[in-house]
Amino acid sequence: MKIQQQIEALRNELREHNYNYYVLDRPKISDYDFDLKLKELQKLENQYPEFYDETSPTLRVGGTVTKNFNTVVHDYRMYSLANSYSKEDIEDWEKRIQKGLGDVDVAYVCELKYDGASISLSYEEGQLIKAVTRGDGFQGDDVTTNIKTIKSVPLKLKGDYPSKFDIRGEVVLPFKGFAKMNADRVKKGEEPYMNPRNTASGSLKLQDSAAVAQRPLDCLLYGIVGRNLGITSQWQMLEKAREWGFKVPRVAKLCKTTDDVMAFVEEWDKRRHDLPYETDGVVIKVNSLQQQDELGHTSKSPRWAMAFKFKAEQVSTLLNKITYQVGRTGAITPVANLEPVLLAGTTVKRASLHNADQIAKFDIRVGDTVFVEKGGEIIPKIVGVDFSKRPQNSQETKYIDHCPECGTKLERTEGDAKHYCNNYYGCPVQITGRIQHYISRKAMDIEGMGSETVTLLFQEGLITNYADLYTLTKAQLLPLERMAEKSAENLIKGVSESIKIPFDRVLFALGIRFVGETVAKKLAKAYKNIDALMAATEEELTAVDEIGERIAKSVTEFFANESNIEIIKRLKNYGVQFQLSAEKLKNQTEKLKGKVFVISGVFENMNRTELKKLIEDNGGKVSSSISSKTTYLVAGDKMGPSKRTKAETLQVPIITENDFLTLLKQG
Ligand code: AMP
Ligand code: ZN
Repeated sequence: MKIQQQIEALRNELREHNYNYYVLDRPKISDYDFDLKLKELQKLENQYPEFYDETSPTLRVGGTVTKNFNTVVHDYRMYSLANSYSKEDIEDWEKRIQKGLGDVDVAYVCELKYDGASISLSYEEGQLIKAVTRGDGFQGDDVTTNIKTIKSVPLKLKGDYPSKFDIRGEVVLPFKGFAKMNADRVKKGEEPYMNPRNTASGSLKLQDSAAVAQRPLDCLLYGIVGRNLGITSQWQMLEKAREWGFKVPRVAKLCKTTDDVMAFVEEWDKRRHDLPYETDGVVIKVNSLQQQDELGHTSKSPRWAMAFKFKAEQVSTLLNKITYQVGRTGAITPVANLEPVLLAGTTVKRASLHNADQIAKFDIRVGDTVFVEKGGEIIPKIVGVDFSKRPQNSQETKYIDHCPECGTKLERTEGDAKHYCNNYYGCPVQITGRIQHYISRKAMDIEGMGSETVTLLFQEGLITNYADLYTLTKAQLLPLERMAEKSAENLIKGVSESIKIPFDRVLFALGIRFVGETVAKKLAKAYKNIDALMAATEEELTAVDEIGERIAKSVTEFFANESNIEIIKRLKNYGVQFQLSAEKLKNQTEKLKGKVFVISGVFENMNRTELKKLIEDNGGKVSSSISSKTTYLVAGDKMGPSKRTKAETLQVPIITENDFLTLLKQG
C-alpha cells in the first residue's frame, strides 16, 4: 500500500473508533489497542509531514499554545433563552405563539438544557474550521485549537452534510470526569474545582491546548444555522446532526400539546440526577423551522423557544451580617454575609438582598436562619426566613441612610426600588466603577487592564475618569506595584487600540444610567453621532423606539453635566469613535421613516432577518403582529392565514417582496 493511503486508512479507522467511544459510548477496541494505532499514525505523520491533515485524530492531543484568543463576529447571533417556571408560563407562551402564527397546529420539541459553556462550531465542506464561544452573543472568542481536543467534536463529518453551516452546542464536563479531575488535584495538594460548569468554561480559555486535551470535556449539540440546509424542523435537525457524527443526546421528545411538554419536564426534573452531566432545565422549541422563522426574535431571545428552569436547590443557613455595596451608578445593593454552606455544588458565603423593600418584605434580620436558593443566576438569593429559629433578642433591620463609601446621604426616587448615593464625582467606588465599566469587555474591551489596576491607578492619583486613561505614560506606570515593562506597554497599547471600538459600544461604555447594550445600540442607530444625541430633548428621545421616559431623562441629565461634556470632548480628541462608521452609515436611509411593517411567510430573494434589517436600515419599523398601526404587511410564500384575515379586516395593504423592493427604490 502506498504510504499516503496507509496514513489515510489509519486516520479513518481512528476517527471511527473515536466516534464509537466518545459519541456513541460504544467502544469497539480496547484503549490499549487504540493507543498503539494512534502512535503508529503519529510516527508515520512525523516521518511524512507532506501528508499533513488538519482533521487528523493525532491533533486531538493538543499542543498549540494560544496567547490571545481572537475576537470573532458570529455570522448568526447567539441568542439567550426566555425563562419559564410553571405550567402557566408555558400556556401563556403557547398563547403568544398562537397569536403570532394564527390558529395553526404547532408541535414542540423538548430537549434538556445542558449546563456548560455555549459554543458555536463552523463547518465548511465537512471540516471543522472554527469554534467560537458565545461571548456577548454578537461576537465571541476563537477557541478552535482547544475545541479540537474534545474527542466528541467531529473534525470531519460523514453523510450528506450541507457545504457550510454553524452548529451550536454546549461544552460540558460530565460529573464522573469532574470528580476524577478533582481527586487528582487533591492528591497533588491543589484546591478542588468548585463546579463542572465553571470548570468547563474555564477550560475553553486555557492557553495550552494540551492541558485542555487532558480534561474529560464533552460537547453536546442542539441547533444548526445556515442557508439552504434542506432541513424543515427542529426534530429533523437533531436527527441530521446525529447522522453527520455529532453528539446529540437522545433524551428529547416531539410533543403535540403543552400537556406532553409538561410531562417531559416533570419526568426529567426527577430523572436528571441520573444523567452523566449537569442540566438546569428543559428547552422547548417550536418544531417547524418555518414557524420559528415567522415568530422571530425579541432583542434578546427567540420567540419560538423557551427554557423551563428546574426548581432551584434550597438550603438554610445563618445570616451573620448585612453589608452594603455601592455600584458604579451609585445604586446601593445590600449583601447578606452568610455562614458558608454548600449549595448546588458550590460553597455560598454571600447572597444579594436586592433592596430595602426586599429586606422589609421578608423581615430579614441579622441572626436569622434564612433559606438560600440558587437558580440559573450566578449570585444566590435569599427567599425566606425560618422564623422558628429567630433569636429572642433579634432586632429589625434598619437600612443605612448614608453611603458606606463616602458618607453622602442616600436618596430614593419615587418608583425606584434602589437607594442611590448621588455623589457622582466624589464617591470613590463610583469613580472606579465607571472606569471599570468603561474598560470592560462588552464596552471598550481594553486588554491588558483589569479592575484591580483601575483601583490602583485611582488610588495613586493617576486617573479620576476614563478620559485620563488615554494620557497614561510608561513613566507613570512603571513605579506601580507588579507593573513590569511588558504589562505597562500592554496597558498603553490596549488603551490606544480602544479608539477602534464602534460608536454604539462607546455609548454603552460611557456608563449612562439605564443605557445598557441594547439601548446604546438603538440610540446610536437613531442619532448616528454624539452631537445629535447630545442635542436631543427628552421628548425627542422618547419618540425613539423602546426608549422610555426614565432612560430619556437619564440621558439628558448626563449630557447636561459640564464635566461629562468635558470628558467627551477629550475622548473625541484622543480619537474615540463618536459617530457610526461610514460603512454602517452607507446603507442607511430614512426612506421608510414612520412606516410600520409586519413580515410573514417565506421570501425568494432574502431571508426574514435580511428583510427586517433592510427595513430598519431604511428607517422603518418591524412589528410582530398586525394592528391598526401597521402600514404594510409584506407577504411571502406560505403566509399564515390568520395574518391575512387580520390584515384584510383592518384594511392593511398586503404587498409582495417585489412591491416592497420597488417601494424602497422609489423612496
Ligand atoms: P441562557 O444563557 O439562560 O439565556 O440560556 C441560553 C443558553 O442555553 C444557550 O446559550 C445555550 O448554550 C444553552 N442551552 C443548553 N441546552 C440547550 C438546548 N437544548 N437548546 C438551546 N440552548 C441550550
Ligand atoms: Zn457614595
